[in-house]
Amino acid sequence: MNIDRDLWPAIRQHTWKWTSDRVDVRGIIWHATRSGLPGRTAAVEFESACNWFLSPNNRTGGEVPYGGMSHYIIGGGRVARCVPHELVPHYSAGIHDRMAISVEVGQGTNTDQFDAQDIELCEGLAAELSANFDFPLVRIPFVDAQNVGWPGMVGHEDTAQGRGQGKSDPGPLFWNAWEDLVMADPRLDRLIVAIFGDNSERTLPWAERVDVAIYRMNRRVDLEDPPGSGLMPSLAEALATTWWPHSHTAQVTATVTLSDGGG
Ligand SMILES: [Zn+2]
Repeated sequence: MNIDRDLWPAIRQHTWKWTSDRVDVRGIIWHATRSGLPGRTAAVEFESACNWFLSPNNRTGGEVPYGGMSHYIIGGGRVARCVPHELVPHYSAGIHDRMAISVEVGQGTNTDQFDAQDIELCEGLAAELSANFDFPLVRIPFVDAQNVGWPGMVGHEDTAQGRGQGKSDPGPLFWNAWEDLVMADPRLDRLIVAIFGDNSERTLPWAERVDVAIYRMNRRVDLEDPPGSGLMPSLAEALATTWWPHSHTAQVTATVTLSDGGG
């Protein structure tokens, strides 16, 4: 991942903005910047978030002050590193930050579309982090207050801390854009559709889609490898073994087998 701005040398001086109580990296927490100002481009959101993270006024609390912070900011096709992986931003999502890499993505309001190049950068960063820290690139329906739910990727909206605070970021526009990009990949196209459905199912609430996916896996949906695509068996394995069922009545029992490259 190409880092356009490294804010860490400056943020490091503000010791209330980070902590060293890292537990483990078990996934990613996605956020949206959401200044709330309509019409702001992702590039302006990026600059604004960088300025806020650098500001000495970004300080809250009494005896143990903290600042709004994340590991990365992505916006307008640019990436800023704020805090190194081995440290914890204090904070983006409270208790969950100790087990995650957090990323703020530029979005002015919750109805603004994300910048397509930013979603590409997000997927690139996610792929790197997934390889470095060995967690699957699956969306987690919910991470609870005891951090049960990892590993994978979660929206701030789907964490116990986020729901407690009424957070809705990054929201459906982020996940739809993410899915659009993934589904445009011919190698993954058939696998994703086989499990998660096509565009017609986008309107279903996420929890129902999880149930649908589990249902399909239970029915041992035939996950054929598109000819010559070289689909990664590890991806299918990750989907089959790390999925947390939304409904406790559902059991993931699918055996997913893939041939490698049309063999
Ligand atoms: Zn957030």
